[in-house]
Amino acid sequence: MTVFHITTLAGDGIGPEIMAVATTLLERVAEQHGFTLALDPRPVGGAGVDACGEPLPAATLEACRASDAVLLAAIGGPQYDSLPRPQRPESGLLALRAGLGLFANLRPVRIVPALIGASSLREEVIRDVDLLVVRELIGGIYFGQPRGRVVGEDGEERGFNTMTYSSSEVDRIARVAFDLARQRRGRLCSVDKANVLDVSQLWRDRVTALAVDYPDVELSHLYVDNAAMQLVRDPRQFDVLLTSNLFGDILSDEAAMLTGSIGMLPSASLGASGPGLFEPVHGSAPDIAGQDKANPLAMVLSAAMMLRIGLGQEDAATALESAVDRVLADGYRTGDLMSPGCRAVGCRAMGDQLLAALA
Ligand code: NAD
Repeated sequence: MTVFHITTLAGDGIGPEIMAVATTLLERVAEQHGFTLALDPRPVGGAGVDACGEPLPAATLEACRASDAVLLAAIGGPQYDSLPRPQRPESGLLALRAGLGLFANLRPVRIVPALIGASSLREEVIRDVDLLVVRELIGGIYFGQPRGRVVGEDGEERGFNTMTYSSSEVDRIARVAFDLARQRRGRLCSVDKANVLDVSQLWRDRVTALAVDYPDVELSHLYVDNAAMQLVRDPRQFDVLLTSNLFGDILSDEAAMLTGSIGMLPSASLGASGPGLFEPVHGSAPDIAGQDKANPLAMVLSAAMMLRIGLGQEDAATALESAVDRVLADGYRTGDLMSPGCRAVGCRAMGDQLLAALA
């Protein structure tokens, strides 16, 4: 029987609660589809700090590199916010993405029919939304040097970061987006701020130049401020959205709300080779951690993306996604999705319903 080695990183806050749901389902679905998952839990983020004094312990990164895929829940919490930046949980996550060379972050946004009422937008605006945000993940302003805080001669403190992209960094993420557009509806919209930023002008020039290799893909460009507006005005116009690291961070959270809750959005991060990292878009939700209130569905859908993209187990992935659709159609909702007439459940009970739906 095929055995896949998976490093699981539960992290902080609601992370362990939603990871427990996902791993139970993964083990069941693997059994049903004739393969085995060898799960190797490791600490990361605040849990890494607590266990080993650093947010990305060397042994965790090593285990991730040696596995077939990495499944992450979420990191971060207020108790770590006063640590020096290199020891903050968020630094561990950035180091993990960089350490695995994960330059492409894929965030699909699909409206589940049963959840149309949970969106803050009107039904006619969001019906049939099916878009994919392709975000550059290990470049741009989150990594650019120089960065820091300095006190000037006048005694005033100044903080600064650098937004920088090389042509090869733009090309490799743009090619991922063109290829995915080709497999979907053939439309790619590249997001930048080329009217103001030099780095964005380079971005636009490179993406435009690459388009000659993809005559079957219809390329358009939007400034990021307009893209933010269009996402809530008429999200159905989008197929694939290509963004830099910062713009994608913001736009994908906005796009998440089209689905009704950030607790619904999965993501995949991929490199040129080696294991991918699969994780929900949301954070560790410290405000509801430990209260059995978390929505585990983004985590479960991330596990489905891992099965499909990371392990090539299409049928098992579809089975998990169908289980999610089924429990929602049956009216089960965690608090973040709750609407009148639905059945309120906690994180664990949602997991039980999913398990029953898999059977
Ligand atoms: P967040 O996504 O954790 O929470 C935002 C809001 O959404 C909160 O009200 C939270 O309760 C709710 N929410 C999020 N996920 C939910 C779920 N699955 N079910 C129900 N409700 C959910 O973002 P934040 O509050 O800005 O950040 C909290 C911590 O998470 C911070 O330490 C931040 O750095 C970290 N963070 C981590 C990641 C990651 O691990 N990839 C991403 C974003 C933020």
